[in-house]
Amino acid sequence: MGSDGARRRLLVAGNWKMNGSLAHLQALASAIMDGALVRLDSVQLVFFPPSVYLREAQRLLGGSGVAWGAQNLSEHDDGAYTGEVSARMLRELGCTCTLVGHSERRTLFGESDEVVARKFVATSRVGLTPVLCVGESLDEHRQGMTEAVVARQLQAVLDLAGPSAFADAVVAYEPTWAIGTGKTAKPEQAQDVHAFIRRYLAKASDPGYAEGLHILYGGSMKLANARDILSMPDIDGGLLGGASLNVDEFIAVARTAQRLARGDSV
Ligand code: PEP
Repeated sequence: MGSDGARRRLLVAGNWKMNGSLAHLQALASAIMDGALVRLDSVQLVFFPPSVYLREAQRLLGGSGVAWGAQNLSEHDDGAYTGEVSARMLRELGCTCTLVGHSERRTLFGESDEVVARKFVATSRVGLTPVLCVGESLDEHRQGMTEAVVARQLQAVLDLAGPSAFADAVVAYEPTWAIGTGKTAKPEQAQDVHAFIRRYLAKASDPGYAEGLHILYGGSMKLANARDILSMPDIDGGLLGGASLNVDEFIAVARTAQRLARGDSV
């Protein structure tokens, strides 16, 4: 998922959370295979279904150019961890990436910055790309703590994985007050945080890694706001939750990204 020419290749990702079905997966695969996304070269499409659907994703979409990944994984490689799934197992299912540290994992399942960092490392260790989710809560936002929170979340990964942690990784900035609420950060507001993330990582690790890094925006993104958000220079794609559950809408956002990437009018 490296950079591509002047602008980093846009990435449109869908997080189904604990939603969807085999039928939904089949509908998405049909839409993709029927050419709803002609010339996928200018945009990378990725989706994160519940893990039980990954095998079918591999069967239906192998070779299509679309990528898939898990929403969560164990920090351990293998062992007596009932109910857990390891990065190696996900790789066997054709995953190329996993979400790490989604705000629902942090808040509902108590994942600390340190646990998230360990999951990030477990992902990288087997050659998958971690998609690290960062973002502040509404209270933190109101208190002007956005940069401090995001810096802390990034630094936890750097502390464990070292300065090259983000050489092959994606960051998703997802203000938690915008997730599933219908409230979206203003494009300029999100752009400021994305630029901050890039600056932070350029200083803390390597300017080259930071320049090539994909930073996605997530939080109530949908067709109606995709163009404005994706037009920002440091926003390299979107992580869509609710909107990814509607096949037509998800594909329409990817088409919008494609037109932007090609410089066509949107
Ligand atoms: C998400 O779950 O990552 C997300 C961004 O959700 P939504 O688009 O529904 O706000």
